[in-house]
Parts: sequence; structure tokens; C-alpha cells
Amino acid sequence: MKTTRVKAFGTESPEADLKQLNIDRREVTSKDVSIDILFCGVCHSDLHFARNDWGMTQYPVVPGHEIVGRVTNVGAGVSKYKKGDLVAVGCLVDSCKTCENCKADLEQYCPSWVGTYGGYDKHLDTNTHGGYSESIVVDEAFVLRVPENLDPAGIAPVLCAGITTWSPLRYWNVGKESKVAVVGLGGLGHMAIKLAAALGAHVTLFSRSTNKIKDAKELGAHEVIISTEEAQMEKAAGRFDVIIDTVPYVHDLNPYVGTLGTNGTLVVVGYLGPLDPMLVTVPLIMGRKSVAGSLIGGIAETQELLDFCGKHNITSDIELIKIQDINKAYERMLKSDVKYRFVIDMKSLKN
Ligand code: NAP
Ligand code: ZN
Repeated sequence: MKTTRVKAFGTESPEADLKQLNIDRREVTSKDVSIDILFCGVCHSDLHFARNDWGMTQYPVVPGHEIVGRVTNVGAGVSKYKKGDLVAVGCLVDSCKTCENCKADLEQYCPSWVGTYGGYDKHLDTNTHGGYSESIVVDEAFVLRVPENLDPAGIAPVLCAGITTWSPLRYWNVGKESKVAVVGLGGLGHMAIKLAAALGAHVTLFSRSTNKIKDAKELGAHEVIISTEEAQMEKAAGRFDVIIDTVPYVHDLNPYVGTLGTNGTLVVVGYLGPLDPMLVTVPLIMGRKSVAGSLIGGIAETQELLDFCGKHNITSDIELIKIQDINKAYERMLKSDVKYRFVIDMKSLKN
């Protein structure tokens, strides 16, 4: 298969900084769209993956799954997009398209889903490479339309941080009567607050950081609870219908379960791995409470979210960076020193 060599940023080992390297993009096949990448958001998952936190990374890795760009070329069989369209690619670039999950618009739960990076690229028999690159070629079924009224840099984080919180908000029927809490004010957390507030819910933030209270309220939270203050946690007992927990590292879920009301659900989207300390089942049983998980969202649901953002004028709060500053950005993200998502201006890779 014919390929084009393009510039990218990635790493060849867990310890090494990200640096410029070259990757190959396939020529468009009949159903493919070729996209010139304008902006790419920086997700905490990019950092986990680059550093092999989940023990599954194959190197080299080129992260990035919050991609916004312009269509430069389309295959002969493409019907949804044309040259010049403003489009986006999120965390998925392929799936089997035939299993029960794919048929139900839940491609993210397809056993053969292909991640935008670190997945298996059947065309080139290599790893897929993500959006820290000049361009990408994607099957039109996994390309999304971006509302032209929104800032293209600000909409990039919607492709992961947005959909990852939107999908559980929708699945657990969050609306005007709902009491929602969000754990952690980072990339996912700030989108969760904006989206839950836009759905009409009463929104509370749990944060370790006292210096985020003002921001959280400006983003749409009605209340902030400092999670390290035991008295504040106890006062919140039995209050929430849905909690979206975005914390990236192992932490005690039990205090949060205590703040769920009867039938309430704590949805873990941040941490991947065994719990420590263990979950105590008594409060679950005594209140028919659930602890659940959720992975990104399907293609139709992501388009629904982009359209919702277009209608309600919602974008992410971002700090625009050059690709050359990505390693510094990772260190700052680890210290929660970003308001509230880094987005890479991909022009910086072209120069
Ligand atoms: P982020 O921007 O770094 O935000 C994480 C927030 O968690 C921080 O701002 C901080 O908020 C809080 N936190 C609590 N304990 C922490 C600790 N020990 N270290 C750092 N932060 C801590 O990360 P993100 O991009 O939102 O991603 C959050 C997690 O979701 C990551 O693990 C990522 O891999 C995962 N993720 C999952 C999915 C999915 O489909 N399930 C999709 C995307 C990302 P406070 O200061 O307010 O406490
Ligand atoms: Zn992500």
C-alpha cells in the first residue's frame, strides 16, 4: 500500500521524552478521509500510554485522540465529507461494524475496536498513530462533523474529555431533577461540570484543591466539597444520584459511595486497575447503590455531543501550546497545573 511520510511527535520508550519522528500515513482508500490536523488536545491517557502506566504500550507511540482538522482529500466512495470540511477524530478509528455493540452504536465496546493510537492498523500492519502529527487518514465512519460556529481549538477536548463524561451522564439519564457530583477538576472534570450543568442538573465538585473553588463555580458547579475535609464529606452523605469520578490514580472510593443516595451510581472513568483500599459492600447493599465504569462513547453519541456543544456554545477551557512544549505540559498535567486542558496548535509541527 502506498504511504506518505509525515512529521509527528512521539516516544520510543516509557522513560524517554516525546520528540519529533516520522510516521507513515496510508493513501486514502475508497472510504477514507485524509485530514490536515489543526489542533490536538492533550489527555491524561496520552501520558499514561506514553509512559506505559497500563502495561500495554508498544513503541514507538504517537499519542493524541482529540483531533480537529480540515479534510484535504477523500476516497471515491466517501459520501459524508468533502475537501475543506471542518472535522474531528476522537479515540476510535475502526471497529468490526458487525457485532452487537457496533450495531447498537457502542463501537467503544466492540471487542475489535481500534484506538486512534496504540491500536492495530490492519492497513499497514503496524500500530495506529494518533493526533500529535501533521495529518491522519481515517475511515469516514469514524470521522465527525464539527459545528463551524465553535472555536476549533476549544472543541478538540470534546472528542475525549467531553464524550467520556457525556456518555455516562446520558446513560444514567441526567436531567433537571438530577444531583450530579464530579470528582477531580481536570480535563474530564471540567467538561463534566459544563455538560451536567447544561443538562440542567445540580452539580457539585469534589476536589482536593481549595484553589479551584472559584473556577468550578464559573464552569457551572453549584457547590464544591473539599474531599480531604472529613467533615465536609460526612455532611454530603446520601446526596447524589450520579457521581463521575475522573481521578487518574488509585484512591479510596468508599467516602464517595457514602455520598450517593438510594439507587445512586458512582461511575469510574479515571482510574484503570484494582482498588485499594477495597470497596466496602455494606453501603451498596443498604442503599441499592452501584459502582460502575464507562469508556469514552460511540460515534453517533460523539456526534450528538458535538451538535449539543454547537447549540449550547460549549467548548473546553484550554491553554494552547506548541508541540515542542509537550514534555513540559505532561509534567504540569501531573501537578494538575492546567486550566483545564492543553491543546496543541499543530502549526508548530509544520514550521
Ligand atoms: P487531568 O486533567 O490530569 O485531571 C485529573 C484530576 O484528578 C486532577 O485535576 C485532580 O483534580 C484530580 N486528582 C486527584 N488525585 C490526583 C492525583 N493523585 N494525581 C493527579 N490528579 C489527581 O486528567 P484527565 O485528562 O481529566 O483524565 C482523567 C483520567 O481519566 C485519566 O486517568 C485518563 O486516562 C482517564 N480517561 C478515561 C477515559 C475513559 O474512557 N474512561 C477517557 C479519557 C481519559 P483536583 O485537583 O480537583 O482534585
Ligand atoms: Zn483521552
